Formats: sequence, C-alpha cells, structure tokens
Amino acid sequence: MNSTSSSELAEAVARARQAQQKWSKLFFDERAAIVARFHDLVIDRSALILDTIQLETGKTRRDAFAEVVSVAGTARYYVSHGKSFLASRSARGAVPILTSSVLRHRPHGVVGMITPWNYPFLLSMADALPALLAGNAVVLKPSELTPLSAVLGRSLLVESGLDPHLFGIAHGTGEVGSELIRHVDYIGFTGGSVTGRKVAVAAAERLIPCSLELGGKNPMIVLKGASLRDAALGMVSGAFSNAGQTCISVERVYVESSVFDEFSRIVVDTTRKLKLGWSPSWDLDVGSLIHGAQADKVMGHIEEAVQSGARVLAGGRRRSDLGPAFVEPTILSHVGHRSPLSTEETFGPVVALYPVDSANEAVVVANDTEYGLNASVWAGESGEAMEIARQIDAGSVGINSTLMIYNSFDVPMGGIKQSGIGRRHGEHGILRYTQEQSIVSSFAAGGGYDSLLSRMRTPKIANNFLKMVRLWRRIPGLR
Ligand code: NDP
Repeated sequence: MNSTSSSELAEAVARARQAQQKWSKLFFDERAAIVARFHDLVIDRSALILDTIQLETGKTRRDAFAEVVSVAGTARYYVSHGKSFLASRSARGAVPILTSSVLRHRPHGVVGMITPWNYPFLLSMADALPALLAGNAVVLKPSELTPLSAVLGRSLLVESGLDPHLFGIAHGTGEVGSELIRHVDYIGFTGGSVTGRKVAVAAAERLIPCSLELGGKNPMIVLKGASLRDAALGMVSGAFSNAGQTCISVERVYVESSVFDEFSRIVVDTTRKLKLGWSPSWDLDVGSLIHGAQADKVMGHIEEAVQSGARVLAGGRRRSDLGPAFVEPTILSHVGHRSPLSTEETFGPVVALYPVDSANEAVVVANDTEYGLNASVWAGESGEAMEIARQIDAGSVGINSTLMIYNSFDVPMGGIKQSGIGRRHGEHGILRYTQEQSIVSSFAAGGGYDSLLSRMRTPKIANNFLKMVRLWRRIPGLR
C-alpha cells in the first residue's frame, strides 16, 4: 500500500470537508439508513471480512469473528439510540417565562482517526460509525501493518450508500498520522500510551479536542469464594484470546492464597489444552502475534522474569516451527512486582499469577500501576465483588467477566491514568463527536434580559431583584 502524500492527504480532508456540509444537514434517519445497510452487509460478507482480518494479522478465525460481532453490535446500537442521544433539548432560561435555552449537538466537521493493528476492522469501523452518524466526515489513518481491513470496511460503507468523500483513508506510518492531526477538527486515537502522549500534544497545539484509547496492564482478582473453574475459563479467554494483543487483556492475576494452588492447577490444565496455530478453520484457540518484533518483545518479558526467579507454569516458548511470531500461551508465577512483566504492557499471550493474603491486599497491588483501563473481579458473593470493583482504579471493571466491557455498548469504555482520555460507547461515544451549542432566547420587549441589569438604579431595586432570584431558584434546604 503506497503511503499517502501530503498533498493527497490535504485533498482527502478538503473533499471530506465539502461532503460533510451536505451530510450534516440530512436527518439522522437518513444517515442511519446507510449505517443499517452497512450492518447487514457486514453480516452477509462476514466470510470475506474474516479472511481479510486473518490474512493481515495472523489471528485465529474466532478472534477475527470477535471484530465482526463488535462492529455489527456498534452499528445496531447507534442506529437504534443515536437519534435520542443527539436530540436537542430545552433547558431553563436565565429568567423564567421571559427566556428559554436550547442545547444542540453540532458535528465537529472532519474527524481524524488513527488506529492500531490489533483489531484492524473493529477499531477502524466501530469508532467511525458514531462519528458519521453524528454528521461528521471521517479521515482514517489505519496502522501501516493492517490497512486492508479498513479499506474493506470503507468499501462496504460506500456500497451501503455513503458518499465516498465522507470517508477518506490515509495510508502510511506515524508521520502520516501526525500530519493528519494538522488538518482535522477532532482526533480519535487508539494505540500505545507513548504515541498517545504525542497525539495529545499535537492536538493541544491546534486546540482541537481528542480522545485517547491507550494501553493497559489489566489486573484480575480471584477470591476464595469464587468458582475457580469459571474464573479459570475467564482468565484463559481474557489473557489469551487475540494472542493477548487486546488493550483490555488480563496480564496480572491476584489470587487469594488459600485457593492459589487449586486455581493455578485448573488454569494450567486448561491452557495446556489450547491449540496454537493459524488456519482459516474455527478450531484453533491462539493465533500468531502481529510480527516477529512483537514476539521478541513478549519473549523478552518472559526471559527477564525467568532470569529474575519466575517459574513457568505453562508455555513459555517461542514456536518458530509454526511461523515467525508464535508464542505459546504462557503462565508464570513468582514474578517480581517490579519486573517489566509486572509493570509494562506485555501485549502477548502471557499472564502472571500472584498470591495475595486478602481482598484488601489484592486491591492495593491491582492499583499499583500507571495504567487504569480494565480489571476483573471474581468472588463468591456479588456484593463483595461490587465492593472491590468500586475500589479499583480503572475505567471499567468486569465482575465474573474479563473482556465483556467491549460489547457492553450502553456503558462508556475507556481508561484513566496512562490508559487514556475520553470514552467510546454509550451516549458519550457519539456525543464526543459533537460540540455543544447553547442557544438562549429572550422574549421580553425593551432590550429583554440584556437591559435588566441596567435597570438596577437603587439598592432597593437591586435587593428586590436578588430576593426574586432566590424565589425562582429555590435551593432545597435553604431558606
Ligand atoms: P502505536 O501507538 O504504535 O500506533 C497506533 C497508531 O498510531 C498507528 O496507526 C501508528 O502508525 C500511529 N502513529 C505512530 N506514531 C504516531 C504519531 N507520532 N502521530 C500520530 N500517529 C502515530 O500502537 P500499536 O499500533 O502498536 O497498537 C498497540 C497499542 O494500542 C497497545 O498499547 C494497545 O494497548 C493499544 N490499544 C488500545 C485500545 C483501547 O481501546 N484502549 C484498543 C486497542 C489497542 P503506524 O503503526 O502505522 O506507524
């Protein structure tokens, strides 16, 4: 795929800007009809989409399928609910009866999106759909490693009736991404925290809003009352699906000491049965990493931990016999709390188990990280799990679940601390693509509200005015 030149990028944004004028004036239902057709096409063409994702990422069929499920789900959610989220609403005026206020949501104009390689179809399309539905045009810079899924997604939108100029794609490395930020009105970035910081600085220089969906070092807590079998299944899927290359993957597991050995035994047994490899069939569990350099990084974390005293309970080896970037699903114990494997995002099929003496200790170590994206709690009693969830410093916490937040479209998803700014999904996930505009009206003659303060010519009038305001805006509990 040739890199997009500076002039091509500027032209794509200019065309998008022009097309957006007409698009933003359509009724929501007209825009939604196109996204609804796209939803159906995604389902009808799912085999082609799965082939494309698998070919450019090396992931398994089931991991590719997760992308299709989420894109279809996002389309359905915003087609159904977007209209009410975007509806103007009336609000109190400055003075009752004589004034009124209306809150509107205006699209930004051209939304720039920069996406990574780990979910190339999902992350390119699912965040673009609410941006389009809100009346924006989109110009996307997908990862240079995985451009085809985005190209396919865009072509399905165009086939569904979208004006092609409303969805531009710029190809190339991070340089093209940073150039994109210089042209657009909003930037939605998904990627690593280091790049995210650069994107935030570039957006700040232009004073454009941005959202940053960044990395994580996601903890899971297993308490003695939990169903260990369920928790083990949750951990195996939360740590090893997509070969661990998921921003919300489980990477650290804190298990109450009294059940540590039993839990370890179950997860190790389950993990050893996972089938590793790449094929378009549905029966493989763990696929390839994106490329050899990612496998090097993951193996580096494992090797450093082992040299520092960690024990390999399952996996631990690179599988060059299967391809250049396969790493066995790996479980480690006795990993030092300051080891890179405990502190840095590994982004591979590797998880560390740590015994803890109590739920309180689990919370303290779970929160001992610069990240705050996702977490997971497994306890015998739901009240206890909820109590722990509330104490975790993360944008989302799953109870009896590790990855479910991604398909919980009605609640916001995003990170705190170094895991990002802003949220996707829910009302916020579409309103972030709009600017709020307040329209306030005065119905009074003679200068209306604006001339009101100029009438305060004596202390008595001014005092009476304040008393009236007190009556209008009565605060419960205050006289
Ligand atoms: P990167 O941060 O390396 O890259 C993300 C995107 O940014 C790519 O398209 C990249 O281009 C581009 N880019 C690189 N440098 C710049 C720059 N200076 N200005 C603008 N754009 C730039 O992330 P990865 O692709 O390695 O993806 C993995 C990371 O993404 C992990 O940390 C993961 O946790 C995170 N992620 C977060 C998610 C979330 O929702 N919170 C979801 C999925 C992933 P190119 O690579 O083509 O050079």
